[in-house]
Amino acid sequence: MRHPKFETVRQRYKFACGYCGVTETTVGGELTVDHYCPRTAGGDENEDNLVYACMKCNQYKGDFWPDEEDMAQGWRVLHPLEDDLTVHLFENEHTGYLQAITETGRFHITLLRLNRPQLVKHRLIRRMQRVLSEKQHLLERQITDLRQTIAAQERYISLLQQELERLRSSIDD
Ligand SMILES: [Zn+2]
Repeated sequence: MRHPKFETVRQRYKFACGYCGVTETTVGGELTVDHYCPRTAGGDENEDNLVYACMKCNQYKGDFWPDEEDMAQGWRVLHPLEDDLTVHLFENEHTGYLQAITETGRFHITLLRLNRPQLVKHRLIRRMQRVLSEKQHLLERQITDLRQTIAAQERYISLLQQELERLRSSIDD
């Protein structure tokens, strides 16, 4: 059954999994609503406790909620909107792997299996799209520059022609 706040959560997360970033377009359907703090651990239905998540992330996260011992180790799931993820992990642009900076980051990546092969491939494809799109913009700017150069050269040529005509007519005189 659909969560009553499904639509709100979906839009809040811009139609993408809060944990791994895959979109409805890439998975070919709507995602699920995850309780950040599971109901079994007392999690409520407030928007801040609801994360738009793909099936896999939701499944891997399961009902995990850190106990005191976990917390002492820094073992917890990062909240997509409330945690600063850049403190805990980063994307290796060359390999497409997420790499941990902190122990919490390492735990988060491991629990949610954020380096599953399909996600790594997804990141590499996204990166390639960004690179190609930047290249395209660069080429478009170069074309604009070249057109301006051509226009300036054409003006110069026509000035030279006028000058040539003037000289010819002065010789004929
Ligand atoms: Zn996901």
